[in-house]
Amino acid sequence: MAPTPRRDLLTGLALGAAGLIATQASAAELEPSRAPGVGGTDPGPRNPARERQNPDIINPPATDHGTLPNLRFSYADSHIRQSSGGWTRQITVRELGVSKAIAGVNMRLNAGGIRELHWHKEAEWAFMIYGSARITAIDAMGRNFVDDVGVGDLWYFPPGIPHSIQGLGPDGCEFLLVFDDGAFDEDSTFLLSDWIKHTPREVLAKNFGVKEDFFAPTPDPEELYIFKAPVPPPLGPDRLLGADSVPQTFSHRMLAQEPIATKSGRVRITDSSNFPVSKTIAAALVEVDPGGMRELHWHPNADEWQYYLEGEARMTVFASSGQARTFDFRAGDVGYVPFAMGHYIENTGNTTLRFLEIFKSDHYADLSLNQWLALTPPDLLKAHLHLDDAALKVFQKTKHPIVPA
Ligand code: MN
Ligand code: MN
Repeated sequence: MAPTPRRDLLTGLALGAAGLIATQASAAELEPSRAPGVGGTDPGPRNPARERQNPDIINPPATDHGTLPNLRFSYADSHIRQSSGGWTRQITVRELGVSKAIAGVNMRLNAGGIRELHWHKEAEWAFMIYGSARITAIDAMGRNFVDDVGVGDLWYFPPGIPHSIQGLGPDGCEFLLVFDDGAFDEDSTFLLSDWIKHTPREVLAKNFGVKEDFFAPTPDPEELYIFKAPVPPPLGPDRLLGADSVPQTFSHRMLAQEPIATKSGRVRITDSSNFPVSKTIAAALVEVDPGGMRELHWHPNADEWQYYLEGEARMTVFASSGQARTFDFRAGDVGYVPFAMGHYIENTGNTTLRFLEIFKSDHYADLSLNQWLALTPPDLLKAHLHLDDAALKVFQKTKHPIVPA
């Protein structure tokens, strides 16, 4: 572990010349100087742990230029709301200002832990990260939905559809929720207990044909939201409680999809073409082997919201008008690419990089720079790039979403 600069300085003062030389050697890799004669040292206050996680922020590639908004926020910097049944944290437009289209929630439910029956104005898309969960919902026609989901499964609840989530055995679950509005707030959903608390007792009595103290045992919303409960028994034949099932399933097995495989990675795409109920969210699960790279591309339909599941990466976003900026990512980070901006995602670690590309759209779409150049008339391309006929042969007419090292 590299010591902090202040420790370096004190050590140097105490040990004399030998200490100072060691100080210069250990600090050199952290200094904001990408090449001799460029930048300089940083003798002032600094946070070496964060700087080591952001080498392309401290020493941007020389190709970076101009001003871009921040395009990264880590769940490690997101407030965690803890309760008896688990925890939740969110990255919304309040944390990541550019993210007007999408908000994300990362939630843990312990075994048996329940995310209270609720609904909200936004559609909810989910990816199961760990463990297993039981999800329930009904639609406006009184049709029922209950399913158990595991790692790599998705769900999608359209706006206004009431639902619940419960962690199953042996260790509950963790998942990512995506909402199709950056202003979403996980603390502002319509809760069952909250409505009961804020409805006159005589109205509740009239509505259900019961005595006024019927709902007296119902806990305060502060005690529910995410709360402890026993692990439920396995789903039985009476799971739908006598109702018909929803015509379009709210769950999907994304990992069961056959991936688009290249030499250095795999891509699974899920949108309304193979998960019909998911009308406002399209997603790609991307796996990039060490040294590989998600190729230079852009999206013609929407902003891209990213969630990094495993590994380390860097991305440069090209914003036109000479502007480009590079960001570093690791597991638990969220990245963002504003509409139509060009980008690549390079695996900069020693392990497989896995991340989700999420779009507020009914379909997935991308444009490959390589494919565009291959499908442009050669003379037109030569006039732009000053390449000869032999050189033009490198461009590929078929799309290769992940390129090798
Ligand atoms: Mn919800
Ligand atoms: Mn992309």
